[in-house]
Amino acid sequence: MCFLCNSKNAAWPGRRAFLLAAAGSAAAASLPALAQVDVGSASQLRNLVPADELENAATQEYAKMLAEARSKGALVEAGNPQLQRLRGIFSRVQPHTAQWNDRAKSWKWEVNLIGSKQINAFCMPGGKIAFYTGILEQLKLTDEEVAMIMGHEMAHALREHARARIAKTQGTGTLLSLGASLFGLGDLGGVAANIGTQLISLRFSRDDENEADLVGLELAARSGYNPQAAVSLWEKMGQAGGGANGPSFLSTHPSGPARIQQLQNNVPKVQGLYQRARG
Ligand SMILES: [Zn+2]
Repeated sequence: MCFLCNSKNAAWPGRRAFLLAAAGSAAAASLPALAQVDVGSASQLRNLVPADELENAATQEYAKMLAEARSKGALVEAGNPQLQRLRGIFSRVQPHTAQWNDRAKSWKWEVNLIGSKQINAFCMPGGKIAFYTGILEQLKLTDEEVAMIMGHEMAHALREHARARIAKTQGTGTLLSLGASLFGLGDLGGVAANIGTQLISLRFSRDDENEADLVGLELAARSGYNPQAAVSLWEKMGQAGGGANGPSFLSTHPSGPARIQQLQNNVPKVQGLYQRARG
């Protein structure tokens, strides 16, 4: 009998307190002091899933995906002008990432291009970026618009949305369903290691999407890309339609007047950063 909670199982509240303390402690993805967009602190829940295990799982999944693309002749070669364009844009944005997340300093960032009609792009935990030729070609993206998508995807990784999402879906679900049973952080580590295949098609919450839009907008503006391009990008996305063909950027990133309006409202906030970057 536990006198604190009237429970016959004293271990459970102890474990729960431990988990909550773990969730509240490390705050690696802090808010940069000079941030112009208002997104608040990253979800504390993400601390329940070990970052290094999730990043290792993502690295393995990314390597597997590249090997598969290579075997089909779909992995774009290093000399390809479109890939060079992507890597050039990335090299302007990357120096501004560490202020959003300390871990990003040690990430082995990668940018690859996959030949596919699919309208898709993502950045896995740990900085593994991929674009599909479909998104560049079908939306006829300018460099500024590519920077907005890249910034958006990098923001998901920097704000550790996958980590928080896994903690929310696996962690709290397990916590509730197991009731008074004992289990440790190791279980969530195992979840992180086995989640690899889901990382590409992970569907984020509307709040996560909103955050990624704003952090991405700021990253791109700091890198000298015109923030107004975020608006033109999402207008193009809206015109491209619902993305009925499998897991695509459009199905996980619905465009609409609210999204566009929110970005439009935030353009003035980062305009100064953009102008400073342009010199
Ligand atoms: Zn997103």
